[in-house]
Parts: sequence; C-alpha cells; structure tokens
Amino acid sequence: MGATTPQFEGACLCGAVRFTASGEPRGIYWCHCQSCRKHTGAPVAVFVAFKRDSYRVTHGEITKFDSTPGKTRRGFCAKCGSTLTCESLSEPAVTHFHVGAFQQAAQLRPTKHYFVEERMPWLHTGDV
Ligand SMILES: [Zn+2]
Ligand SMILES: [Zn+2]
Repeated sequence: MGATTPQFEGACLCGAVRFTASGEPRGIYWCHCQSCRKHTGAPVAVFVAFKRDSYRVTHGEITKFDSTPGKTRRGFCAKCGSTLTCESLSEPAVTHFHVGAFQQAAQLRPTKHYFVEERMPWLHTGDV
C-alpha cells in the first residue's frame, strides 16, 4: 500500500500493550449498551472497527474476558486495566477498539449510535 494508507497507533494507559492498525476503519460508532458502560465505567463507549488482518499487536498482549460467554469477548490490559477491545464471536474477522486507545482518536469521529434505548438521558453528543 502507498503512503496514503491511514495508520493508527494504539496503546493502553501504561504502555504494556501496543498495537497498530492500517487502512480505513470498517466503522466508528457510539455504543450505549449497559455492558460497555460497565466495562469502561464511562457513560458511553466509542468504537472503531478494524478487520482482524488490518491490525497487529506489537507489544504485550490484550487480555480477554467473555462478558457474554459464546457471544461477546472484551479485551483490556492486565497491568493497568485500560479497556481496549470488544469482539463479537459471531463476527470473528472484526475487532472493535475503544477509540480512546488510539493516538489519532481526534480523527476517529463516530457516525452511528447503537443501543440508543440504553442511552443515558443526560448524555448529549451534539449530533442527535
Ligand atoms: Zn496497560
Ligand atoms: Zn456496547
């Protein structure tokens, strides 16, 4: 690929886990579900999705936890606890990264909302 291929550098808060992604993300979106809220401690999660073959972990490893066994697997840094990923086991080719894990988060603007029925009534995102 040429120099125009977007590159994204990601890491957890302590730096023990690092990863890079390249190419256009498959999607960027808000998730208002309660599981994401619990996992992050934040009122809403924003994810950027990359195909499994367009990112690689370059340092350390993402520790996994099955939040819904057989369905949803969440990833975090075992050392500092940073939330990093969410994978749907029915869609194994794609990994959803918490957007804040990437250095270029400001460029990763979400365009969709999921689980709006679980959205916090006091949360204003400026778009809808
Ligand atoms: Zn860490
Ligand atoms: Zn969610």
